Amino acid sequence: MDANYSVGVGDEMVEDRFDQLKRGDSPEEACGVFGIRVEPMTRSVSHATYDGLYALQHRGQESAGMAVSDGTSITVVKNMGLVSNVFDDRTLLSLPGNLAIGHTRYSTTGSSTWGNAQPVFRAVGDSGIALGHNGNLTNTQTLSKELGFDSMELGSDSDLIAHFLATEIASNLGGKPGSVTESIKSHPEAVLSALEHVLPKLKGAFSLVIMDHDRLIGVRDPNGFRPLCLGRLEAGYVIASETPALDVVGATFIREVEPGEMVIVDELGVRSFRPFPPESIDPKLCIFEFVYFARPDARLLGQEVYSTRRRMGELLAKALPVDADLVMGVPDSGVPAAVGYSSASHIPYGQGLVKNRYIGRTFISPDPASRIDGVRRKLNVLRDNISGKRLVVVDDSIVRGTTTKAMVKLLKESGATEVHLRISSPPYRWSCFYGIDTPSRPDLLASFKNIDEIKAFLEVDSIAYLDLEDLKAAIGSPEDGFCDACLTGSYPIDVPEAMLNARRPKKIG
Ligand code: SF4
Repeated sequence: MDANYSVGVGDEMVEDRFDQLKRGDSPEEACGVFGIRVEPMTRSVSHATYDGLYALQHRGQESAGMAVSDGTSITVVKNMGLVSNVFDDRTLLSLPGNLAIGHTRYSTTGSSTWGNAQPVFRAVGDSGIALGHNGNLTNTQTLSKELGFDSMELGSDSDLIAHFLATEIASNLGGKPGSVTESIKSHPEAVLSALEHVLPKLKGAFSLVIMDHDRLIGVRDPNGFRPLCLGRLEAGYVIASETPALDVVGATFIREVEPGEMVIVDELGVRSFRPFPPESIDPKLCIFEFVYFARPDARLLGQEVYSTRRRMGELLAKALPVDADLVMGVPDSGVPAAVGYSSASHIPYGQGLVKNRYIGRTFISPDPASRIDGVRRKLNVLRDNISGKRLVVVDDSIVRGTTTKAMVKLLKESGATEVHLRISSPPYRWSCFYGIDTPSRPDLLASFKNIDEIKAFLEVDSIAYLDLEDLKAAIGSPEDGFCDACLTGSYPIDVPEAMLNARRPKKIG
């Protein structure tokens, strides 16, 4: 085996800490992927991957990793923590090569352990493949059973994909991954035929970056739930979850990888393949990428995300006006919609809350009571700006409601006379099974309370949500298909009962 691994910290300790992190009050992100292939000796791909992952840090903060190939062997370095915790200059300098993939992780399946950090590597004879996955398969269990894989070997759905691919590649080479004597290096076609065999069998959400010793491969599932884009460098190509990761390495955006498309980057350039049955192609980009997940400077479906969020605010103001003195956004993702609300309503925009940027996420508190303290740690009030004022407070979504409730309390205690909450998306009522970590339905505030009950619970003077039609109008891409399952309960891909049950509360006694 030609792959080397870095050593991680103890799994159990990390699991404890990060299980607490997952009890968030927002839908949590679920991974960023990055890949780069350049002509040899033109630039350091490890440094470029670091920069790309840094730009994708918002998509996953539990672990980070990269796999680098020098054309002969693949080296994998990964660990728990932020990109800047996992890599330093010394590590990056020790990773020479012209091809790399990288990953930032927020776990949606599999626990948050070093073993589940990515890229995942599987050896095949004298070489192997590495893989980074953003999304969530919905047929992991049936597939691993069908294939007779030992579930102990598979820590996550991403592991399953890598294992399945490695098994197929080895079989194409006439053996098993650990014992095959033929090499991918002399039979590169073995990888392509394995991909064509394996990919159509996967169900659910998967934007993948995959590499062997020489090729970079990007794959987007037939629904295109999670984004993936392609960029060009002077001497190479880049694949990334979001366009800011292209910008940061100086790549020019070429286009999005299309739902159901596989792109292969090798010495010949970029080639496009369609490994999925045509009837399975049904674009359903996650609508929450626009509302909350993607960076405001990302471009999706030809739109800058910031502009779409601003339009959401404008439509919110037109549909749901209120008499007030000041419009403010909940930092950071509520701010563009607040700017839009202010411009359409002609109510002055101002900052009412300052976010402490250096504490990480607030959701480390183990119970609702201490979570309220978390809000105070995360947000501080600009009292002179809000005191004695009737506020329109704009946020992107409400999931559990505990953080929002604490924030409203903080604003009122700091002198706001009225708080009118405006949400730039419809009520979040259903769990996500396509790569976003959300609580089970009974923990989603809007799944069990009507608007009046939500208003009473949050102790606001009024509350209103943007409706789905206006949300789609703000995105400005009506001909494109979106997943909106968490808002409507209409799941584009069937969710197996076992997954639904996993999100139901366990009965006690
Ligand atoms: S269910 Fe919601 S969060 Fe999940 S992919 Fe669909 S729109 Fe996105």
